[in-house]
Amino acid sequence: MECRDVLGRLSPFLDDELDPVASREISRHLESCSSCAAALERQRKLGESLRRDLEYHRAPDLLRARVMRDVGAAVHRESTHPRRTTWPWRWASAAAAVIMVVGGTWWITTIPLERADAVVAREAVSGHVRSLMADHLTDVTSTDQHTVKPWFAGKLDFSPPVTDFADAGYPLVGGRLDYLQGHSVAALVYLHRKHTINVFVWPATNAHTAVTPARTQQGFHVIHAAGGGMTFWLVSDLNAEELAAFARMVSAPSATPPSPGPAPSLP
Ligand SMILES: [Zn+2]
Repeated sequence: MECRDVLGRLSPFLDDELDPVASREISRHLESCSSCAAALERQRKLGESLRRDLEYHRAPDLLRARVMRDVGAAVHRESTHPRRTTWPWRWASAAAAVIMVVGGTWWITTIPLERADAVVAREAVSGHVRSLMADHLTDVTSTDQHTVKPWFAGKLDFSPPVTDFADAGYPLVGGRLDYLQGHSVAALVYLHRKHTINVFVWPATNAHTAVTPARTQQGFHVIHAAGGGMTFWLVSDLNAEELAAFARMVSAPSATPPSPGPAPSLP
């Protein structure tokens, strides 16, 4: 492989996007070519400093809405009038739109949904850790859903579903306000066998109902669920199976506590 080929592929090489064979060829070249190795190092440092020093601004809601609308319109246009020169799947895969301001200019880029989810998961875990470390688990401490739910009134512009699942082994501990994705959200706190579960809740942007498999982040399990017009992010050190079972309970459209099983029959 020649220097020219290597230099042209440094970026995908750094991002681990090359196939193993190409990646190995470049690695081998870099071992023996100090000028390409230096170029790689420069590119790596640039990437690092961009990630570290670039200012990120959350786009105004109106602009975000416009971008999402335009992306949606483009997907629709491409699916109804496909053109040979464009790739509808590129739009379709652009599940999340991110708007960056760099030096006063609006840049619009798209990131895959996977990565957008990873960002929320990271924020949710930070919120969970914060709540445990700062001894600020709850603003309102009550096992009574009729105390916790009204507490949020006037503090949020939506009413989170609050249900005590004590009968199923997941008693409600209380709730607090938290801040995720640039918005105030409801954080409901539950316990299961001494494991604390934070459930972050805010209105969903669509009527989707789903429970994603648990991912592990900083040693915690994180599950994203949706249902009943709400988005739920659950974080806990509880095992993945039980957390998933609980995620299905809280995101069930009419999250009513499961009725206790039949009374044991006496002999
Ligand atoms: Zn070289």
